[in-house]
Amino acid sequence: IDVFKRIQEVEEKVKAFITLTVEKAYNMARDAENAIFAGKKNILTGIPIAVKDNICTKGILTTCASKILYNFIPPYESTVTLKLLNNNYILVGKTNMDEFAMGSSTENSGFHITKNPWDLERVPGGSSGGSAAAVAADECIAALGSDTGGSIRQPASFCGVVGLKPTYGRVSRFGLVAFASSLDQIGPITKCVADAAILMNVIAGYDVMDSTSAPIEKPDFTEYLGKDIKGFKIGIPKEYFIEGIDKEVEERLNEAIKHLESLGCIPVEISLPHTEYAVATYYLIATSEASSNLARYDGVKYGLRVEGKDLLDMYMKTRSRGFGAEVKRRIMLGTYSLSAGYYEAYYKKALQVRTLIKQDFEKAFEKVDFIITPTAPTPAFKIGEKIDDPLQMYLSDIFTISVNLAGLPAISIPCGFSINGLPVGLQIIGKPFDEAGILQLAYAYE
Ligand code: GLN
Repeated sequence: IDVFKRIQEVEEKVKAFITLTVEKAYNMARDAENAIFAGKKNILTGIPIAVKDNICTKGILTTCASKILYNFIPPYESTVTLKLLNNNYILVGKTNMDEFAMGSSTENSGFHITKNPWDLERVPGGSSGGSAAAVAADECIAALGSDTGGSIRQPASFCGVVGLKPTYGRVSRFGLVAFASSLDQIGPITKCVADAAILMNVIAGYDVMDSTSAPIEKPDFTEYLGKDIKGFKIGIPKEYFIEGIDKEVEERLNEAIKHLESLGCIPVEISLPHTEYAVATYYLIATSEASSNLARYDGVKYGLRVEGKDLLDMYMKTRSRGFGAEVKRRIMLGTYSLSAGYYEAYYKKALQVRTLIKQDFEKAFEKVDFIITPTAPTPAFKIGEKIDDPLQMYLSDIFTISVNLAGLPAISIPCGFSINGLPVGLQIIGKPFDEAGILQLAYAYE
């Protein structure tokens, strides 16, 4: 398979993968060939796809880029990869990420750093940095990522590719290792909008295995590609022109607005007044859910075990050795805000503000069909630039986080470059379950 030739050429520099599944891929290629001979060819048959390493693949190492799962081989298949398997895709490998998807640069991986293919001194974004870099570097045709606060869209924007975060409940989370269950969604990272629509056709849909999966019909997403976008009302939130937004990013956004206008769209200024609370709200809710979800890594059932003098000592040694600094920071923050006495002041307050943020969007969508913003305030930053400053790192998700809090679908598509040749991303946010509309608009823009 040619993709492995390419991987051989570039992977040493980019380091997008944790595991390459070469042998498996050749077997899958044979299966794909047989399917074709049997007349069962479809759109994904034989297509090389990479999968983020927090999505369980039966019999294949799935680490979440954490030392605590360094040897975890899932005994079951996630729903999304099962759907890909049923279409005879080819798994290229499992991609690098921030440990348990906590981060915005892939520097929090417990194993190695992934480089941005456009500039090897820069980060690919995160947490799905391996998936975005693999697509950008032509190490696969497409990839799956997961997005809790921007982890599909922000790396897609840093790597100049397309990344779609579906509506909460649109794609099954069965087999996705939980980070913050009320925010996590799986979605495609692709080279173009049409490929995102094709992948959505395969992975979306109700699943009995996920109790938060939405029992809603899915359209044929590809049917919306090429449809007219004249008359679409495009909201531009005034709160997103924040201090700290890169001048060039702002310029690219203004050009994008002009371009959409030339295609017949009508720009409308809107207000999302609770935007300034989004980052704080997200980091309370995400850390609370994470502290609870990550309690299962105790050295007993699977993964790393560091022996201790008794059970408690074993728990402590395993968790101290197995988790990286960012994961520990989040478990401590989450445990704090969930603890008696603080719950009302922090977690409960955050849930209330989450509702206000959601209502901001509902009000805006009474007036407009879509909302556009930059995906990230800056293009890809340098490796090491923000790693010692968690707050700075958290701010790189300022434009993507509200979308997860409100459960909405949003895409990041390339919209030009900065002066030093780094890709800039445009985010299109849609109404609940309007991925089709987002894809229609994104395709026309592209
Ligand atoms: N960067 C955000 C965080 O660190 C979002 C991560 C994600 O979407 N998985 O939590």
